[in-house]
Amino acid sequence: MKHIFDFFANETDYPDLDSAGAVERLSRAIQCRTIDRGEDTDSGEFEKLHALIRESYPALMAGATFEVIGRHSLLITIPGSDPALRPCLFMSHQDVVPVVAGTEDDWTHDAFSGAVADGYIWGRGALDIKDQVFGVLEAADYLLAHGASFARTTYLAFGDDEETLNKGARAIAAHLQSQGVTLEFVLDEGFGKIENAANYGAPDTYISLVDLMEKGYADLELSVKSAGGHSSRPFGGTSLGHLSQAIARIVESPFPVKLTPVMVGAFKALAPYITEEPLKTLVQDVDGNADAIAAYCHGVPALFPYTCTTIAPTVIRGSSAACNVMPQDMSAVVNFRIAEGETVEELLAHVKAAVGDDTVDMRFLQCNDPSATARTDGYGYAKLLETMQRYFEGVVFAPSQTAGATDAHHYEIICDTCLRCSPFMTTPEDSARGVHGTDERLAVRSYVQGIRALIHLMTAACVHP
Ligand SMILES: [Zn+2]
Repeated sequence: MKHIFDFFANETDYPDLDSAGAVERLSRAIQCRTIDRGEDTDSGEFEKLHALIRESYPALMAGATFEVIGRHSLLITIPGSDPALRPCLFMSHQDVVPVVAGTEDDWTHDAFSGAVADGYIWGRGALDIKDQVFGVLEAADYLLAHGASFARTTYLAFGDDEETLNKGARAIAAHLQSQGVTLEFVLDEGFGKIENAANYGAPDTYISLVDLMEKGYADLELSVKSAGGHSSRPFGGTSLGHLSQAIARIVESPFPVKLTPVMVGAFKALAPYITEEPLKTLVQDVDGNADAIAAYCHGVPALFPYTCTTIAPTVIRGSSAACNVMPQDMSAVVNFRIAEGETVEELLAHVKAAVGDDTVDMRFLQCNDPSATARTDGYGYAKLLETMQRYFEGVVFAPSQTAGATDAHHYEIICDTCLRCSPFMTTPEDSARGVHGTDERLAVRSYVQGIRALIHLMTAACVHP
């Protein structure tokens, strides 16, 4: 197996980049406990982060406007000289998730220490996603400090509640829309990993993904009513039995398995590298064999979420505290991730037909359709791919989708190319363990390489030649 560093290229670009200073600033950013807790949020931690940004990037502060939107979201505008060019927007989020209670001592270095040790920057937010917030700031400040003149207006936009309510990004997008802004492209957090493509039948190839869309999301609450009573007289069954039956019917009525347009694109991009059967033969005609490819992927745990609307019963409430007492009113929540091309409305119709029982009440606690799919035939995608290939040589960048949620879809109202891709590369193991988990850390070398990629992309996309 190769290591991610084996793919790093052009690390001698921008030789005067202040890597040590950049690492120090990211470390200080991690020390700000920017956790969104709704009404109970500690604003002081966000203010500390804003102060750090203001004092750390003098060239950016001199050449750009700095606005706080909503509670703590930030919009930094670098004005471009050519009004004919549509602006672009580099985004991610300032907030981080809390440390799971009871796991504080499992961390090698305290979660909010921002320790720099063993070649890594450690702490909550190192991967999700203060690296991209500060990496974007480093890149813009570097360019302005070197006298770059921006032709294209460039926005740096950092929400404050991506992990919770997503109001910040929505407010920034609405603010720009009200000014009549439309964007050439948006770059948000994304895959940020280099991994072996064995799951795709290409064990000799290493890939990274550019997510073009995100699946839809729905929490559907099911409720049943019952007076309860003595369990020796369960005429008509109990509410627990009734609710369980509804859940079982949903789980046993899966959604169609199919290769969505984004995944058709992914397999076309990967086809030349696929050496293992059955995919090797199937991808010779991706369109013609789409159903067979989808059926195969459906059985691969890592690819399964990309093949269908997924069904995950997650919560059940109201069960009886005593073995001989029947439960009264009960409810459950089933979480769905909705496939590209399907809708919340279709989901509800499918679930109602599966349950076939009007006495089970259903309501969405939260839901949204899948995002739009970003264009890949335009300027933004081409510039991003060219940049990523320059700094991560030999990695195949394939279009894909995220099964989770990001803030990028809020910008769909003003942009048809919302791309999710992080140039701060980590290993699949570090990502799985650290993101929302324990020992979140980013290699110093990955951080500096990501900044180079952002300087290159900003130069290519936004600066006068
Ligand atoms: Zn994130």
